Amino acid sequence: LNTIAVHAGDRKRPSKDQAPWIPATTPIYSATTFFYEDAAELDQVLGMEKVGQSYSRYNNPSNDALEELVNALEGGFGALACSTGMSALFMALSSGLVDRPGVILAANLLYGATLSMLSKVFELNGARVVFADFTNEAEVAAAIAEHKPSVLLMETIANPTLRVPPLDRISKMARAAKAVLIVDNTFATPMMYRPLHPGTHGEGAHMVVHSLTKYLGGHGDTLGGVVISDEEHYTPLRVLSRTIGCGLGPFEANQAMRGIKTFPLRFERQCANASAVAKWLATHPAIDRVIFPEDPRHPDAENISRMFTPGLYGGIVTFEVKGADKQGIFRVMNALRTVVPATSLGDVHSMVLYPAIASHRDLSPKHRLRLGIPENMLRLSVGIEAVEDITADLDQALLRAADQNPG
Ligand code: PLP
Repeated sequence: LNTIAVHAGDRKRPSKDQAPWIPATTPIYSATTFFYEDAAELDQVLGMEKVGQSYSRYNNPSNDALEELVNALEGGFGALACSTGMSALFMALSSGLVDRPGVILAANLLYGATLSMLSKVFELNGARVVFADFTNEAEVAAAIAEHKPSVLLMETIANPTLRVPPLDRISKMARAAKAVLIVDNTFATPMMYRPLHPGTHGEGAHMVVHSLTKYLGGHGDTLGGVVISDEEHYTPLRVLSRTIGCGLGPFEANQAMRGIKTFPLRFERQCANASAVAKWLATHPAIDRVIFPEDPRHPDAENISRMFTPGLYGGIVTFEVKGADKQGIFRVMNALRTVVPATSLGDVHSMVLYPAIASHRDLSPKHRLRLGIPENMLRLSVGIEAVEDITADLDQALLRAADQNPG
């Protein structure tokens, strides 16, 4: 992937007849509209009989380059770049339901906005959404048999509890039931796992979704999303996107592509730093519990060792602060000096997010607790800084907050 990340999608000659030069990286094509000397060629391009450019809501050379790149990283048939991760999820779900009954079986542990989209968009528009614990294979099998879903939706590593369902085995169940499996691979990234290619243990997902805003973009300066699809679902996805029009702009496509060139390097460093921070946090007196996929006592340790690239456990560490209520968590966040208390993940800088007010804000405290998200839980996205600076900052913040704790 290190080689694909810096080569795929780039170095296209603009026109064989007119330009002898080839740009080493893809320029930003800000043009909204493209035409041909012969209108018959435009007719063929608009009719999707010939590959080419016509209108940037359909295609754009900067987006094409990014799509080729992410498609190569995940090993798909084709990709669609979208304005955000949420619009990519919307496009994947919508195209998965084309010409099929509107029944979605979703993992009960998902990013909060994804849960909201299922209820506020899909359910309100007539789909039936049912949930199951995707870490429990028997429960997924029973739900498939009972509800006969058209689409299954899950995350490779669930946000923020870092549970890891047996995606490889679920892909077999989905295919046997002729259901479309959509996987949000934002946390794991293709460096840890490629859901379209589960190796010998499964048959593979049909569509993979990423928030480009996170690890792939990686610099906290570009919103974006992408769907990577197998051959069967690629045309419905593109056809739908022409009318819905939530494609990425060419400036963002260019910035995302620039970010991806260093993604494998950054991700390896983030994983190494996260591993060190998780081990350090586990010994800290102010911490109750640390969740990290490298922990041999992780409830999904077997799935983790079977599925993931050896030595990579992700860049996210989730932990619970001893005895902290909401104000106690705010004190920790306010005391941070290096780690940024901001609402995202995957950037070069470390970030801490409080799920109760951010990613899972829309859920009731009771619902959060049922999903394993207590009020004293923080999610840390570990960056590429010197690891001793990250731990020193967490240490001073945790100790200062504990000093001010009225209890
Ligand atoms: N999927 C996951 C796992 C996320 O964490 C997020 C955002 O935090 C999204 C999707 C949505 O991405 P975006 O904010 O780019 O719409």
